[in-house]
Amino acid sequence: ARGAARESARKPATTHDGRTIEVCANVAGGAEARIAAQEGADGIGLLRSEFLFLDRDRAPSVDEQREEYQAALDAMSGKPVVVRTLDIGADKQLSYLPLPNVPNPALGVRGIRLWASQAALLNSQLRALLALEPLGSLRIMLPMVSGVGELRALRQRLETLASELGVSRLPQLGVMIEVPSAALCAASLAAEADFLSIGTNDLTQYTLAMDREDPGLAAQLDVLHPAVLRLIKATVEGAAGRCPVGVCGAAAGDPLALAVLVALGVEELSVEPSRIPAVKASLRELDAGELAEQLSAWLELDDGAAVRAQVKAWLE
Ligand code: PEP
Ligand code: MG
Repeated sequence: ARGAARESARKPATTHDGRTIEVCANVAGGAEARIAAQEGADGIGLLRSEFLFLDRDRAPSVDEQREEYQAALDAMSGKPVVVRTLDIGADKQLSYLPLPNVPNPALGVRGIRLWASQAALLNSQLRALLALEPLGSLRIMLPMVSGVGELRALRQRLETLASELGVSRLPQLGVMIEVPSAALCAASLAAEADFLSIGTNDLTQYTLAMDREDPGLAAQLDVLHPAVLRLIKATVEGAAGRCPVGVCGAAAGDPLALAVLVALGVEELSVEPSRIPAVKASLRELDAGELAEQLSAWLELDDGAAVRAQVKAWLE
């Protein structure tokens, strides 16, 4: 039975009404990418590169980085691998990169905002990425983007580095949608990005203005809050098919939430490797079209708990 489950996890997941959803993995590096491949991942949807930089005395060299990213590409043998550029700041700090002590680090210099002051670190990461093979499988993703200017600046820097290195075909470049302003400006981002990936963990935190690390708020911090769902809807509608839209936050692996995400038009889910078989099995049971007919009513409900109760009742 286990062999049969493995076999079916390797196949693409198509909903009952015929929509194929890519199910990818969130990983920390090459070793986890090998596990993801065994679990049947259709790709790596999020390699959190900050894991290479944490718990050390100094930043990893270009070669160290290249080896780790290449291991993830090798593990996936030609399937797409999304590497997110260093997302440090807020809860994640590096001893060799002291950031100013500010009262609200979650609203401070973190993610892509770091690059204005840390050009050397970014260049080392982009150099390592541009040395990978095959570059056609690599996708570079920018965290904490709040508007299209950040994407433009990064694309320019990538192009400059590529021409210095003699790389002619650039990897795809996408952005995370995890700040409300990015969701609301999805149309302009989608016009210039190769893909969008919604980070529901931070998008929920910033939409509800509730710290994702605060245990006192955990019960209310629900991705199914109608305000968060409206921003996800705005993202999919803003993209309007110009580029693919996925989700890489924890919601992608939650059976109730993923049903709503697919109904909202999300085309790719990226989850913890061990969840891949279960997520593919849930998707095969879903009728996305029928679910979508319920959405407008769900978006009018009072809070996440109310939406959760309705979705649960409907799926049963
Ligand atoms: C997110 O914010 O949803 C996300 C996937 O990124 P992280 O959890 O690493 O902040
Ligand atoms: Mg995030």
